[in-house]
Amino acid sequence: MARDPVCGKEIDEAAVRAVTGQTAYGAPEVDPTKGTRRFHEGVWYYFDTLDCRSKFLASPDTYIKKAAS
Ligand SMILES: [Zn+2]
Repeated sequence: MARDPVCGKEIDEAAVRAVTGQTAYGAPEVDPTKGTRRFHEGVWYYFDTLDCRSKFLASPDTYIKKAAS
């Protein structure tokens, strides 16, 4: 299980990665309501909502430090 660095909620990585379909151009499409993830400085971070991801992206260092402690 991964942990959302913003709210601390446990995230099911498999659900986040589950592909729900394909875009018109053949790119995999995922359902953002099931969570999302972001690659940041060599690590994947998982979020339960786009809201949490936005907070993380606004100030990643704040949340990375909090998650590590
Ligand atoms: Zn969250």
